[in-house]
Amino acid sequence: MSNKYLKNVKSWYVLVLFLIYMLICFLIPSMINGKTSKVANSKESEKEVQGVGKNNKTNVDALPTGKIKLLLTESNQVVEMNLEDYLKGVLIGEVPVTYEMEALKAQAVVARTYTLYKLKNAITKHEQGADMCDDINCCQAYKTKEYAFASWDDNEENEKWAKYENAVNATAGEVILYNKELINAFFHAHSGGTTENVKYLWSKNEIPYLVSVPGNEGYIYQDTKSFTKTELAELLKSDVANISGEIQFEIKDYTGSGRVNHIAVNGIDLDGARFRSLLGIKSTNFRIEESGDNIIFFTVGYGHGIGMSQEGANQMALDGNSYVDIIKHYYTGVEVAKLED
Ligand SMILES: [Zn+2]
Repeated sequence: MSNKYLKNVKSWYVLVLFLIYMLICFLIPSMINGKTSKVANSKESEKEVQGVGKNNKTNVDALPTGKIKLLLTESNQVVEMNLEDYLKGVLIGEVPVTYEMEALKAQAVVARTYTLYKLKNAITKHEQGADMCDDINCCQAYKTKEYAFASWDDNEENEKWAKYENAVNATAGEVILYNKELINAFFHAHSGGTTENVKYLWSKNEIPYLVSVPGNEGYIYQDTKSFTKTELAELLKSDVANISGEIQFEIKDYTGSGRVNHIAVNGIDLDGARFRSLLGIKSTNFRIEESGDNIIFFTVGYGHGIGMSQEGANQMALDGNSYVDIIKHYYTGVEVAKLED
C-alpha cells in the first residue's frame, strides 16, 4: 500500500466524518423540527379575517395548514384530508340530518372553531402525529360519507348528504372569535335546561364566553341507570379505597346550573364530572334513589353541558334564529368571522 493511497483514504475518511457531523448537527434536527417550525411560521404571519357581521374585521393567526391528519380509532389509521371535508364527516357523526339547516350551520362553525383551536394550541397529542381523532371522549365524532350512505335509503342519500355538505360550504372558513381570538368551542348534546359554566369543570378560572345560559331545548331529556351495589363498588374502586358492601353517597354541593359539583362516596370527595365518567351516566345533573338492592341514578340532560347545546341549537333554529344568533347565544360576547384565503 503506497503512502499516496493511504493519504487519499485518510482524506476520504475525514470528509465522510465531516459529512456525518453535518448530518447530525443540522440536517436531522431540521427534519425533526420541520412540522413544528411550519406551525410557528404560520403563527407569525397573521391573516386578515373579514367579519360576517358588522365591525368585526379582525386578525387571527393563520391556519396551521388547510389539511388535517385524522386518527380513525377503530382501524388505528391516520388519514389526511382537507379541513372542510373533515367537517362534513364531523357533522355526520355529531348531528342528525333531520336537524334544521341553521342548526347544522351552527354545528359546522362550532366544529371548525373547535378543531382550529386544538390545532393552533396543540392541545391534543395523538399517536402517529394525528391532529384529531374520531373519539367523542377525546375530540369529536367523525363518520365517512360511505358510512352515512350505507345507513341511508338509496332514494334519500343524495339529498341528505347535500344537507350536510351545504351546511359546511355555506359557512366555509367561518370561525368564532372572542377578543379577536379563536374560542375553545365546546359543545354537548342536551344541557338539561341550563348550560354549565366552564369554571366548574376544566378551568379553574372563568372563561367569559363559556358561562351558564338557558339551554333552549324544546323538551327535557331524562335517563335512568340502575346499578347493584356490587357493580357500583367495581366502578368506583379506582377512586374509593376498600369499597364494598354498604356504599354511602352524599352530594356535597351543586354548580350554579344545578349540577352535582362534588359527591362524597364513603367519605371520599369526588368531582361530579369524575363520578359521572366512572359510572357512565348521561350527565352530572342527577339524583340518587335506593330501591331494594339497586341504586338508581336519574339524570337530566346529556353531556358535560359546556358551550352549545346541539338540541337547543335545533330548537332555536326551529324558532327562526340564524346560525349566528345560535352561536352568539351559547358563547357569550363572541362574533362570527370569516377567515380569508
Ligand atoms: Zn382526539
